[in-house]
Amino acid sequence: MANKTALVTGASRGIGRATALALAAAGMNIVLNYAGNEQAAAETAAAIEELGVQVLKVRADVADKAAVEAMVAQATETFGTIDVLVNNAGITRDTLVRRMKEEDWDAVLATNLKGVFLVTQAVVAVMFKQRSGAIINMSSIVGVTGNTGQANYAAAKAGVIGLTKANAKEFAARGITVNAVAPGFIETDMTAVLNDKIKESIISQVPLQRMGRPEEIAAAVVYLASDGARYVTGQVLQVNGGMAM
Ligand code: NAD
Repeated sequence: MANKTALVTGASRGIGRATALALAAAGMNIVLNYAGNEQAAAETAAAIEELGVQVLKVRADVADKAAVEAMVAQATETFGTIDVLVNNAGITRDTLVRRMKEEDWDAVLATNLKGVFLVTQAVVAVMFKQRSGAIINMSSIVGVTGNTGQANYAAAKAGVIGLTKANAKEFAARGITVNAVAPGFIETDMTAVLNDKIKESIISQVPLQRMGRPEEIAAAVVYLASDGARYVTGQVLQVNGGMAM
């Protein structure tokens, strides 16, 4: 993977940060996309550079087509190729359906599903010319099993699985693989908002009896991005401590 380039969306913190660091540790140059937290993005970029690879920091909302296209143009100008795309950016707006506002639905679908489509569309234009590439989309256990209070999020994450499979078929002839990773409950800012009672209830449903770490999701992404996974496409790799089988 040395000297190749990976674009990771939402890479300033959490799973995206761990993934960008793991791909950098494997020798890849990193396009670090972030939504707005300059300080976190700068800190992550510095940590990536310490690993001896190059990093390009690009602020862009993945749901904004023009911003996404500008980001991909900047990435190819800087590095020439994009070999790996990790569609990681995601948000939650949890509430019960009867209380869910239309904007809660729209915001989650825009970032978590349309964002994956827009970034993929811009990046495959580059990958098609290369006739190679690996795309890894961040789904969720909730997209497989559903979850009370997460209708918008579950619908988006199930949509990501459908999109992954459709794109795997559509891009295969060009040597591009498309897979999804479906994490269980992982210790990040996203789950830090859950109270102790909810966390305990979740852990009681996990055979491995703990939440996962961002690095454990990053390792799955690195595998799917590696040469060892060139015959793997259209798959959903569940990394959830056995919570769903
Ligand atoms: P996080 O909130 O720590 O990080 C999400 C990142 O996405 C942040 O850097 C944020 O700035 C970025 N982002 C949000 N909206 C964006 C936008 N419009 N454009 C660009 N970037 C944007 O969350 P995390 O736990 O690290 O989650 C990463 C991914 O993993 C998400 O897609 C999430 O749905 C998924 N996931 C997380 C868990 C978990 O338990 N933490 C479980 C399953 C799936």
